[in-house]
Amino acid sequence: MRVVVKVGTSTLSENGALHMGRMERLSAFLARSRDEHEVLLVTSGAVAAGHTVMPQLSNKKTPERQALAAIGQALLMNIYSKLFEPHSIRVAQILITKDDFINFSHSENVKIAVNTLLKHRILPIFNENDTVVIDELLRGDNDQLSAKVAHYLDADLLIVLSDIDGYYDKNPKSNPDAAPLKVVRGRLDAALLNESPTPNGEFATGGIVTKLKAADFLVSHGRRMFLASGLDLTHASNFLKTGASERGTLFCP
Ligand code: ADP
Repeated sequence: MRVVVKVGTSTLSENGALHMGRMERLSAFLARSRDEHEVLLVTSGAVAAGHTVMPQLSNKKTPERQALAAIGQALLMNIYSKLFEPHSIRVAQILITKDDFINFSHSENVKIAVNTLLKHRILPIFNENDTVVIDELLRGDNDQLSAKVAHYLDADLLIVLSDIDGYYDKNPKSNPDAAPLKVVRGRLDAALLNESPTPNGEFATGGIVTKLKAADFLVSHGRRMFLASGLDLTHASNFLKTGASERGTLFCP
């Protein structure tokens, strides 16, 4: 199975800095998953990485946030390279924008490059090219970018890892009685997709709305998305192994 895994800022960072323990566990999970599946990673976290070395730049001002993303992207890839080394996995960086999938020759080029990387067992690591487009910087569009990657690269599944362990009937951070949903079938309600973003944390951007948009895009193309915890990877791991898991939400057609 070809699987795209997307990991968000709220998983990768804590108190504005990258959380190395979580990144290490993520790398081990991806390395294990590669025994059975073809794995592609979409990662956020560049701004948080940049901020650790340039705390004098503000992540609230767009030009400085762009600078932080550019500084942090190099650091982030360096960290992934080192984390995957003990697993004998070489990584490759792919910076794209959603528009690259609208442009036929761009999207063909991405497919050719990525398929070549996969053929050589290299792990492609995607992020939005925040120097040319600032969607992800402002709105957490890596959720939607990962859905495009999954669709155009013909993945069987997108796994979105977040600080939340699934989709709830209301925001669990502000409603203690919120109930998790195990399966969401079919297209999503337009009203849900138009709610304002509810990110969790200073560096997070998207919140649940961009994840629902990503799920709806995939479902509309007959594909599946699994939303699970990036803090406790047993659920994503079980889902990959058995197609089921105690926690996490599956969005499917
Ligand atoms: P990431 O950085 O992983 O993309 P975000 O912080 O952007 O994560 O989005 C996840 C957050 O969305 C959760 O921590 C939670 O606070 C918020 N959220 C709002 N409504 C819901 C809901 N109905 N179900 C789950 N999470 C929700």
